[in-house]
Order: sequence, then structure tokens, then C-alpha cells
Amino acid sequence: MKIIVIGSGIVGASTAYHLARKGAEVIIIDKQHEGQATAAGAGIVCPWISRVDDQDFYTLAKGGACYYPSLVSQLEEDGECNLGYGLVGALAVSNDEEELNIIEQKVRARQKENPEVGEIRRLSAEEARQLFPPLREDLQAVHVTGAARVDGRLLRDALIRGAEKHGAHSYTGIAKLEIKNEKVIGAYVNDEFISADAVVITAGAWAPELLSPLGIDIPVEPQRGQIVHLQLPDQDTSKWPVILPQSSHYLVSFDDSRVVVGATRETGSGFDYRVTAAGLKEVLHEALHVAPGLSEGTLQEVRIGFRPAGQDILPYLGPIPTLKGIVIANGLGASGLTMGPYVGSLAANLAMGEDTEIDITAYNPLRNRLNVN
Ligand code: FAD
Repeated sequence: MKIIVIGSGIVGASTAYHLARKGAEVIIIDKQHEGQATAAGAGIVCPWISRVDDQDFYTLAKGGACYYPSLVSQLEEDGECNLGYGLVGALAVSNDEEELNIIEQKVRARQKENPEVGEIRRLSAEEARQLFPPLREDLQAVHVTGAARVDGRLLRDALIRGAEKHGAHSYTGIAKLEIKNEKVIGAYVNDEFISADAVVITAGAWAPELLSPLGIDIPVEPQRGQIVHLQLPDQDTSKWPVILPQSSHYLVSFDDSRVVVGATRETGSGFDYRVTAAGLKEVLHEALHVAPGLSEGTLQEVRIGFRPAGQDILPYLGPIPTLKGIVIANGLGASGLTMGPYVGSLAANLAMGEDTEIDITAYNPLRNRLNVN
């Protein structure tokens, strides 16, 4: 079976990898747009402390977190070991004991269903600072050991190389779909036509540009995120846990003396690829408020990414009944590095005409349109 994957952020890279491992003939097309969400993503993989209560959202988020160890070993089999993935744990931090009680209760309930949550412990402010030294002195924590972080760029590249080792071919350029008799028959890239039995659309926030001309309305919009990388010379940050304050901001540490702090969530931003004064101020203010010990860090880089934000909290995953051969995987919003590898594996099942291990009805790509009618 010959399958084209359009867009190779985390979702497309994972889709291509799983398809190639199944023996499909895979073509990957990516335009390398500035602001790819995957290239900017912080990399937190921790559905356990999430404040979102939607069951269908949680199914994909926990499925994503639980799938990581299996994906890591598949990639290892293919000689891909450099992913920046680490089970470093997370600290939900607050100076309000009651707030931490509620978080602890919720995580303990999730632990009953999913042992992957790991151990849960309450930490005093001093114990919390032993694990993450820059932390503010009055912040206590709920420590959850089953949280992870991953480097989105490294994982994306490993998946693409892995797919290529299994025979996939990559093209750089903008893809345009070719339809005949209400069925997709392939795509054009750089004026070259490539035929296919199926096409998986993993084009992130840019998907409407590709699909609207065909009358397919997937209501995804770019939501800009500005995120800062701080270098802490001579500090071993490799085992520092993810820090989750009680806001949409966070701190994530990597092996190379680097702490990533973010991020803005700018709904309605459009594809405006800029670092703004207000965005940078917000990110640094929030980070230093929670971890004043980071104030001497070197500001190494600011990244900009456009999250593919749908009309509600759920991703769009599934076929389009009126256009045979198309599979949509999109709208992963702020959780794509958690869910993306797993969603990609499900999209590969769908493109191959296989059953999926979970019921995907709730993720119907046309559900928002159905609600309106
Ligand atoms: P993208 O990564 O945006 O990839 C889409 C690709 O499609 C692009 O490369 C683009 O060039 C290509 N494309 C589009 N149209 C075409 C076309 N017509 N032809 C060819 N190519 C095309 N998630 C978490 O789980 N944890 C986090 O900690 C986290 N932090 C984040 C922090 C920030 C600042 C941001 C921005 C996001 C964060 N996310 C996080 C969310 C996550 O990064 C995204 O949900 C995820 O990367 C989306 O992946 P994607 O593959 O759908 O889209």
C-alpha cells in the first residue's frame, strides 16, 4: 500500500514511522514552515496532573504517556536512541496546602487506574528545593514519579530517520491534494505528482489551507506560543523534575544544563512569527516568580510555535466520509508531544484500513460542523 503523509511534525513523523514499520510504501512531504509546533514544544509528558477532566481527552493523553516506553524501545531497535526522553518526575508546586490536597487526591484516583503514574509523595518546601534548587522558598509540592519529558525536535528527527530506514522517502515542499471521483489519488509537491492509495493529513495549524479548497472544514487555528531556553552553566539539570505551578506556565529541564520555561498561549495570533515584548515579559516573569534561582541563567534562545488549536479540547482523528482515502490527525493543541506519537500510531492503523485499539468516534474530524447543523 502506498501512503503519503503531509506534515512531519510529531504527529506526521510518528504516522510515517508506524506505517513504514508495517511495510507500507511511505512518502513524507513537509514544507518546513517557520513555527512548526513540534520544534517549539516544551516536551512535558504528564497527563496525571492535568486539570482537564474530559474523559475522551484523558484517554488519548494517558494513552500517549503509556505508549512512550514502547515507542522508545521500537526506536532503539532501529538504532535511534537520542530522544531527550527521561522519566524525571514532576512537582506540582504551590504555597497553598489545600490546593495541593486537591491535586494529590486527583492524582491518587488516576493512579488506581494507571500504575504508570508512579509514586506520589508530598514534599516540604525544603525537600522540593533539593530536587529543583532554583525553586522559591515557600513552595511545597506533590511529587509524581511517572512524569516524563522529551525533546520534540530529537524525537521527530528520530522517527523520520526510523521511517526512512524502513524505506520511507521524504520531500521538502508544499503539498497539494489531487482528487478524482470523490477519492484522493495522490498529491503534488514541487510540480511533481505522487500517486497514493491513501493520504494522512498531519499538517498542524496549516491544515485548513490544504483542506478548505476541497470543501473540508477542520476548524484548526494557530495559537502562538513563545518559550524561553535558559542555560545554567555548570549545573547538572539532567534529573531535575518538571515543575508545574498552578497556572498554564511550567519549567522543564534537559540534559545539557538547560531549563526551558514557558509558554504564552496566544489565541487569535495568526501565523505571526515574532518574539514580542509582552510575550517575553510574561514568560520570564512567571518563571522567575516560581523559580527565582533561575535569574542568573543565560537567555539562550526564544522559540515560537503555532499550536494547532481546535474548536474544543479534543483532537481531530479519523477519515472523511465524503472523500475516500483521507485520514485526518490534527488539533492536538497544547498536548501534542504527549499524545502525538500515540495518535500517529492510530492514524497509521486507519490509513492501512486496520481497527484501532480505542474507539475514535469522539474525535470525528467533522464533529464541530455536525454540531452546527
Ligand atoms: P506541527 O508540529 O506544527 O507540524 C505540522 C507540519 O506540517 C509542519 O512541519 C508544516 O511545515 C507541515 N505542513 C503544513 N501544511 C503543509 C503542506 N500543505 N505541505 C507540506 N507540509 C505542510 N505538547 C505537550 O504534550 N507537552 C508540552 O510540554 C508542550 N509544550 C508546548 C510548548 C509550545 C510553546 C508549543 C507551541 C506547543 C507545545 N506543545 C506541547 C504542543 C505540541 O508541540 C503540539 O501539539 C504538536 O507539536 C503538534 O504537532 P503536529 O504534528 O500536529 O503539528
